Amino acid sequence: MASQPVPLLVKNGLLFDGERRRFRKGDVLLAEGRIARIGEALEPPAAGQVLDVADRLVCPGLVDLHLHCYFRGQVLGIDADALAPAAGTTTFVDAGSCGALTFLGFREYVIRPAVARILAFLNISAIGLQSVGIDRNEVGENDDERLLHVAAAAEMIDKNRDLLVGVKVRMYTGLRSLAPLIRAREVADLTRLPLMVHIASGMPPFREMLPLLRPGDIITHIYHGGSDALLDERGRVREEFAEARARGVLFDVGLDRVHTDFEMARRAIAQGFDPHFLSTDLTTSNRHVTADMPTTISKFVGLGLTLEDALAKSTLAPAAALLLLAHEVIVVDELVAVRNQQVRRRALHTDADHDLVVLAQLAHER
Ligand SMILES: [Zn+2]
Repeated sequence: MASQPVPLLVKNGLLFDGERRRFRKGDVLLAEGRIARIGEALEPPAAGQVLDVADRLVCPGLVDLHLHCYFRGQVLGIDADALAPAAGTTTFVDAGSCGALTFLGFREYVIRPAVARILAFLNISAIGLQSVGIDRNEVGENDDERLLHVAAAAEMIDKNRDLLVGVKVRMYTGLRSLAPLIRAREVADLTRLPLMVHIASGMPPFREMLPLLRPGDIITHIYHGGSDALLDERGRVREEFAEARARGVLFDVGLDRVHTDFEMARRAIAQGFDPHFLSTDLTTSNRHVTADMPTTISKFVGLGLTLEDALAKSTLAPAAALLLLAHEVIVVDELVAVRNQQVRRRALHTDADHDLVVLAQLAHER
């Protein structure tokens, strides 16, 4: 976010320590766009402002790992800048709204002028979601396999590594071919970035996808209902999902309005199959129910996560994953250093990036 013109003392907050997963009462002093001090009863800055937040939660800016924000460029895209101040989301990760043929418009006309930080997964289909969102008989972006263009996607990623953090592929209802996933895998391997795979009821069986998934890849809509779901008929986590998780595949909520079965989520979390990341899959079509990240966090506290875990899965966890993605190619020592730095930016550490968020108390009760 833009830097503060004057120092700001945020007083009496419940500060979220994401690494220790706990809250403590305290103050945060922001100066020159950084967190200058964290402590108790800090002196107000000589020339600056004081904000008494009276026991509200003070957290790093929230990271929404899966939403759609190609505002005005794709019909499902919401306006990230309009949402950010009220929702506390400061990093928006667009999950495949654009493909190789459409990304540059997103970059130039939405991401570049935005105040919010916007990153993106590139859709394996060259048209991204341009054919999606009209009505129920829409054309899926992978319906025509000629659009699954490996070279075009890999080149677009190579030229836009500052913003593109992975490859998105939607294995949607009715899709009967593994070709989109196979091509997306090729692009991910060529660019050394992770895949984000949308799963749904009535797609090729998840077991068949397993050999195409690598550690660090992200499965989204993990709690989708219907057939081929995470839980079997007896309500137990299916073996193939447990196997993927054991191999380092990561699981994202991608909440949406139709992609999450809350009862399934509750039962899975009770069995220890909690999501690695909370995210909204916010679009113009679900905004009225999906709302924002704090609403999503509240829902998952209601479904069995602790508030501390839910917040970590909305701040540190996606920040760490994104960095892993974006800097996989650098040497190991640097990777560790850069990853720590990135994680610190999302924790309330002195000298961290100052984008933090003050939340009203979220639901504690189940
Ligand atoms: Zn989505």
